[in-house]
Amino acid sequence: MDNTAHFLWGLTLIRRLDLAFPIALFSNMPDILSAPFFFYYVIKDKFPLKKQVLFEWKPPKEYLEFYRFFHSILGFIIITSVFNVFFPKYTLVFAICYASHIIVDMFSHGGFWATRIFYPFSDFHLSFTKNHWQHSGTRRLIYLALIIINVQMILIKHKLF
Ligand SMILES: [Zn+2]
Repeated sequence: MDNTAHFLWGLTLIRRLDLAFPIALFSNMPDILSAPFFFYYVIKDKFPLKKQVLFEWKPPKEYLEFYRFFHSILGFIIITSVFNVFFPKYTLVFAICYASHIIVDMFSHGGFWATRIFYPFSDFHLSFTKNHWQHSGTRRLIYLALIIINVQMILIKHKLF
């Protein structure tokens, strides 16, 4: 999904406005870590660095390996373990944000961009999902789910549900 949605999911799960900046960073971490590889391969392909990169660029297999690693359970475990060595105090916040990114992307990416959570052990991915930048229905669904979950949380908090 887009970076705003990832941030809002992180904020929804952590529910701490004072941690807004780390939440914004952590909940976009799989994309932040993929970004250097993304730019490396886009430039290597001599593809114009414009908005259509995401729409028309056919990523090479090598890039997809990096992308899929950062968006997998194995990547989640390794990156969170490394984070834990440096900032143990925030490991739980980091883990929840990172995991939420992978789960949201599972439902908002399709085809070769679909999230392979068991990479590199299995190619398993949801087959009915579509890319959020091509299908407004996917975008609407993710934002609608944000509203529903937040309203539910308020209802539960006030024992109205
Ligand atoms: Zn992502």
